[in-house]
Amino acid sequence: MTTEETVDGSGNRFVIVGHGMAGARLAAELAARLGDAKITILGAELHRAYNRIMLSSLLAGKVDEAGVELAEAAGHGIDVRPGVAVTAVDRANRTVTTGQGDLIGYDHLVLATGGQALVPPLSGLDRERLPDRVAVFRTLDDCRRILAAAAGARRALVLGGGLLGLEAARGLAARGLDVHVVHPVGHLMERQLDPTAGAVLARTLGGLGVTTHLDVAATAVDAQPDGVALTLSDGRVLDADLLVLSCGVRPDTALARAAGLAVDRGVVVDDRLRTSDRHISAIGDCAQHAGTVTGLVAPAWEQARVLAQLLAGHDPRARYRPQPPVTRLKAAGIDLAAMGDAAAGPAPDVEELSFSDPVRGTYARLRIVGERLTGAIMLGDNPAVGTVIQIFDRGTPVPLDRRTLLLGRSRDAGAPAPVESPALMPDAATVCQCNTVRKGALVACWRAGARSLPEMVAATRATTGCGSCRDAVEGILGWLSSIDTPDPVEAEVAA
Ligand SMILES: Cc1cc2nc3c(=O)[nH]c(=O)nc-3n(C[C@H](O)[C@H](O)[C@H](O)COP(=O)(O)OP(=O)(O)OC[C@H]3O[C@@H](n4cnc5c(N)ncnc54)[C@H](O)[C@@H]3O)c2cc1C
Repeated sequence: MTTEETVDGSGNRFVIVGHGMAGARLAAELAARLGDAKITILGAELHRAYNRIMLSSLLAGKVDEAGVELAEAAGHGIDVRPGVAVTAVDRANRTVTTGQGDLIGYDHLVLATGGQALVPPLSGLDRERLPDRVAVFRTLDDCRRILAAAAGARRALVLGGGLLGLEAARGLAARGLDVHVVHPVGHLMERQLDPTAGAVLARTLGGLGVTTHLDVAATAVDAQPDGVALTLSDGRVLDADLLVLSCGVRPDTALARAAGLAVDRGVVVDDRLRTSDRHISAIGDCAQHAGTVTGLVAPAWEQARVLAQLLAGHDPRARYRPQPPVTRLKAAGIDLAAMGDAAAGPAPDVEELSFSDPVRGTYARLRIVGERLTGAIMLGDNPAVGTVIQIFDRGTPVPLDRRTLLLGRSRDAGAPAPVESPALMPDAATVCQCNTVRKGALVACWRAGARSLPEMVAATRATTGCGSCRDAVEGILGWLSSIDTPDPVEAEVAA
């Protein structure tokens, strides 16, 4: 099928608004499928697309700026325009207007405008112009601001005890700062954790130099050139050298709304990622599919893949089908995975199992309905975390002896959890959550000749999201190398 025959009967001019993780992936996927397409990608940020997820690692000093580059950000003959914001969409004439006043025509337009960090309405804070010692945590520039303020600082405040707030807090603590997290809810990460897990996490953080102040709101900020003070609803005033605001993300829908597209919390899209205008799609953090805005990279990249299939005309039946997400905290010294409805309270017909060892910072909780895992929290040293994620991902029945999931092994049998070893892992097990790379794809890659981690990564993109699967991919590579045969699966069967 030629580009002229793409969905919507449109031509081959694709304009993507937003050079973030979703936009960059879509451009690469389109370029790989349509050699003759004219792809223009416009990004308001001055930088080419980077791995936003890795900003937490940059803040913690685990990687430098080169370490947050995205492979997709370069090449492919794509017309990339950093520092160019789109200010208006003319749907009748199918053009977009840039901040520089340029008019660019499109056959198909894709909105990948992401989300913006929320600035809470606090006395003393001007949302449009944050003081030097106050920053949100969304972009590379935000990260640079935080690091500049952290240099020579002794104490930092983080407002918001959600996932990003805690990653920022842990990163700053790793740089030697005394960090205080203020959270308006009674326990940390309440969207993913139950109160017991929140308490175990707070205790672990305490041991890492992060003090938490729970169930208390901030009411005012007083930022001066030499420090910042945060007034709390209980009358206390906390002083610090810098304040990081981590109070949530709002999908960036301004452009879509002004263009008259259907917008709810995000830009409303169907299973084909189409907006209310069939010549315009939306993907990533700005999109709302089936009532949900995700704020995670795995769905954004899956949406990019499905949309590229459709726009290229390679698979007109491709549809976006959301997968239940697994949330992982990327903070040194804290292993946390949460999935499904784990934060929900007890309910009839729900089998609840938990294990708690607050002194060692370990907590595990499983929610099971009719032999299926509907949610889990695995905090601290939980040997079965990989197994639990796989069972959740694939919707397979839980083992009869639930202790293998809670404790990693059965006391009677002394047997390890069923699928921790690469050899025992089924081919359908998802190894890289961000890119949905299964073990079978890595084995296929080996069969095709890949013998090193970079070759595996180049072929499958595994490890290029949050990077937490790197050890697992290396484990599979090591296992394949140890078998040392062109067909490891046959060798496994023979053994
Ligand atoms: C510190 C941090 C850690 C994270 N960790 C994880 C994690 O561990 N796992 C996970 O799944 N997700 C994580 N996320 C979320 C993840 O980064 C997002 O889900 C992902 O970046 C979404 O991609 P996107 O392209 O939709 O949006 P973005 O990456 O935000 O990109 C949108 C881009 O569009 C640009 N833009 C907006 N409007 C316009 C316009 N009018 N014209 C031109 N350009 C425009 C913006 O400037 C931006 O560059 C994290 C986010 C942060 C900030």
